[in-house]
Amino acid sequence: MSNTERYFMNKREIEDQTERAFEEKHFRAYYQPQYNHSTGRIVGAEALVRWIHPEYGMQSPGEFIPVFENNGNITRLDLYIFEEVCAFLRKCIDENLKTVPISINVSRHDLYTGDFIESLEGIRTKYGIPVKHLRVEITESAALNDNKFMSDKVREFQSLGYAVEMDDFGSGYSSLNALKDIEVDIIKLDMVFLKGEIGGRGGVIISSIVRMANWLGTPVIVEGVETVEQADYMKSIGCDYIQGYLYSKPVPEDEFYDKLKNGKIGRTIPKMQFIESLDAEKFWNPESLETMVFNNFVGGAAIFSYENEKIEVLRVNEKYLSEFGMNMSQKDIILNNKDLNLDRENKKIYIDTIKRAIASGEEEECETWRTVRSPCCGEDIFCIKSTMRVIGRSDGSYLFYVLVNDITKEKRAFEAVAESEKKFRMAGEHANIYCWEYDLETKDMRPCARCMRDLNLPKLIKNYPEPLIESGLFPPDYADFYRAFLKKLEDGAESLEAIMPLTADRIPFHVRYTTELDENGHPYKAYGSATLAIDLDLNKALTESKKELA
Ligand code: C2E
Ligand code: CA
Ligand code: CA
Repeated sequence: MSNTERYFMNKREIEDQTERAFEEKHFRAYYQPQYNHSTGRIVGAEALVRWIHPEYGMQSPGEFIPVFENNGNITRLDLYIFEEVCAFLRKCIDENLKTVPISINVSRHDLYTGDFIESLEGIRTKYGIPVKHLRVEITESAALNDNKFMSDKVREFQSLGYAVEMDDFGSGYSSLNALKDIEVDIIKLDMVFLKGEIGGRGGVIISSIVRMANWLGTPVIVEGVETVEQADYMKSIGCDYIQGYLYSKPVPEDEFYDKLKNGKIGRTIPKMQFIESLDAEKFWNPESLETMVFNNFVGGAAIFSYENEKIEVLRVNEKYLSEFGMNMSQKDIILNNKDLNLDRENKKIYIDTIKRAIASGEEEECETWRTVRSPCCGEDIFCIKSTMRVIGRSDGSYLFYVLVNDITKEKRAFEAVAESEKKFRMAGEHANIYCWEYDLETKDMRPCARCMRDLNLPKLIKNYPEPLIESGLFPPDYADFYRAFLKKLEDGAESLEAIMPLTADRIPFHVRYTTELDENGHPYKAYGSATLAIDLDLNKALTESKKELA
């Protein structure tokens, strides 16, 4: 049979040929190495069965595994492959060859076979293989269907020293939450679940999973990586461990042996370090005190990761969702609200606060506006006060805890006042008016922004007008005149006006005052204004006003 035309046996043929295949050793373990994309080192391998039929050629496990799962031959096959792996490891150990842990696929049917784990252990001890060289792969769907049963099995493997891998993680979107319920040692993601959407919807979910796994200290291996672009993408979201055609197809034992001999060997290591006071395990465990506090006592809160100016929300609590209303779920927040919906200006404020929090290790605060999108309610704009703190770090990457407070209402009210004040100031600007407020009891004077700017005045002038007489704003010959002018206001004048020269340049101004009375009819506040009086016959006007006051 030529290489190009392959014949796949049908179900009947598979069943008829099985016994002979076991007897004549047509099943072979192939090995697909796993690499650290950053270092190029081999960190592990997966054993994958191949049925090399003498007449029909290589048969795909995708075809015969389901048949074996149906007729019970799967357990026999898995034990057979396990034994091949152990024999291979024995050979490596005997030759002092540095090896990597090898994963074997364990079908869920195996686990229902009462003595499966004992059988594995029997084989392992027969070959004298330390358990650290072996890992078992269980698929996510298997684990999810019968949580209690599966987690007991996982624990049984772990108590014997096997690292347990969750295979095909991410095949269901429920994974995001399942992650914290299933205590596996390594997560395997399949590139297939990205469905070509690097950076897209699938990508966002995958990257959330990878980040959460990293914070949990659970290494992630991504399978099915065929291109450098895919590998780089996975690396960019924090996943360095790669298994796929890009590096190597599954290869026969002797080829894998050569790779081990010639390649460099590395290790899979968990990534993130939580700060001392935080225990990652408890933090994500839904039943822990930490989680209860997170959900019930802290108000709106979220966990996000930060790296290279990139913010990614990993988890939010119920109150966080209700803070925004809009009927959103955690998934909506993670999927539809990139960069926390901050525009450039607000993102800068936020990131500056993040940087402050990283530098100080303390709580830091900021107020930012954001447009939140919900699938059902469209868009809404919020002003959020965020109080944040670093809770974990690893080179260049940080985990943050943030409390959120919707302060939109307060902010709008404040802005309305600021807006009217601004309009007032602008009106003054256009009308060429200087204005100020004078407290008749305390003699405090508060000038407008324009006075402050043009006449170089402070915000508050005590014992008005003395400091300004001293400074020469009121020319000396007008000092007494101005003091008397103000005295009239204290004595009850409701309004006053005069033309006065101001500053050393004796620029004429039309000065007006109106007073405000308290409930007893006593004046307590005066509002002054001054406009340029250059269109007047200066001398005449000045003489008249002096006469008037005398
Ligand atoms: P799996 O455990 O998810 O294994 C990964 C599959 O992806 C393998 O297919 C592998 O050859 C393939 N693969 C690896 N890199 C790439 C890539 O870059 N691109 C693409 N498109 N595919 C890639 P394979 O060997 O055909 O195995 C299929 C499935 O059969 C396995 O999926 C596993 O569920 C099952 N299987 C294989 N060997 C065993 C075994 O010994 N025992 C049991 N119970 N199941 C096995
Ligand atoms: Ca697998
Ligand atoms: Ca897989």
